[in-house]
Amino acid sequence: MIEPVYSPSPSRYDAMEYRRSGRSGVKIPVLALGLWHNFGSHKPLRDIQAMAHYAFDKGICHFDLANNYGPEYGTAEENFGLLMERSFRPYRDEMLISTKAGWDMWPGPYGNWGSRKYLMASLDQSLRRMKLDYVDVFYSHRWDPETPLEETMQALVDIVRQGKALYVGLSRYPAEQARVAYRYLAAHDVPCLLYQDRYNIIDRVPQCSGLIDLCEESGTGFISFSPLQQGLLTGRYLNGVPADSRMAKGVFLKEEMLTPTMMEALHGLNALAQKRGQSFAQMALSWLLQDSRVCSVIIGASSVAQMEDNLKSLDNLAFSQEELRLIDSLSAPVQLR
Ligand code: NDP
Repeated sequence: MIEPVYSPSPSRYDAMEYRRSGRSGVKIPVLALGLWHNFGSHKPLRDIQAMAHYAFDKGICHFDLANNYGPEYGTAEENFGLLMERSFRPYRDEMLISTKAGWDMWPGPYGNWGSRKYLMASLDQSLRRMKLDYVDVFYSHRWDPETPLEETMQALVDIVRQGKALYVGLSRYPAEQARVAYRYLAAHDVPCLLYQDRYNIIDRVPQCSGLIDLCEESGTGFISFSPLQQGLLTGRYLNGVPADSRMAKGVFLKEEMLTPTMMEALHGLNALAQKRGQSFAQMALSWLLQDSRVCSVIIGASSVAQMEDNLKSLDNLAFSQEELRLIDSLSAPVQLR
């Protein structure tokens, strides 16, 4: 008999916490793995496989993708498809896989934003790249101010009816549009499973704008992306910019962010984390998860060692009122939005 290439850990569900997504029947691991940056064609498949297997072995069974994750666009999905073929296929029913469309993907008027034409074609392409019959969650990646909301929502409804996605989600919709969208979807028996937005210690917009409360009211799970603000809320930049870091690439995370005020805040937060017996990254993740309204946070990691560090955040989710107040005051001068 041929040995299977990958045999997941039998204890993979023992230590992970799973939270119900809104009022749905689905529970989601509190840590999900996002494939935005570190799973594209630039990364050796061996490293990608090591991180994905490590995640699954630790109960991180939710993998978050989008059509344009890479770099190059589409290559994170292609690599995920290779993993499906090589190792994950027997475990497909244990996995919650999401993808999205809404940002620029191909040239011309049909490869961007929120039209039915784009969403339908993009999901078909994603399924082919990932070698899947269906995704668990298909997101509208952003609100399109020019396409009628009803068109985008009806496309999501029809995608579920076609069996190409089991659930739908929204990402980065303003509260007003999210409210209308939730109503439309619920009225068409496809309630929105997840709302995805950037939320972390130095970006509290989803909290301040009422988006998190709206999720609760609407029965939609709230899931945070960039919980570490792309690595800023870790020890990575406390003593300069490492050559292999996301900031050194200078595309999505810029060195200009490291102002004296920011550095003071980062050092203060890091000192508090140390006092709590946590790494900075662990405290940043614990801070999000101490709020039961946050269903899950999507981590991006560039190594297994970072994932190992991040998983330890689950060991200490309790904060004293004093610690919470200190985090608020340290981060107040550097709030991003
Ligand atoms: P994070 O905030 O978790 O940032 C990840 C980066 O932080 C890593 O690449 C790494 O940087 C650094 N890092 C992670 N863990 C550690 C650690 N323990 N110690 C030191 N550094 C660490 O998340 P992302 O910004 O990557 O976003 C996560 C996911 O969210 C994406 O993959 C995607 O799935 C989703 N997302 C969704 C968006 C949307 O519009 N819906 C937009 C953005 C993200 P380095 O590479 O320098 O090592």
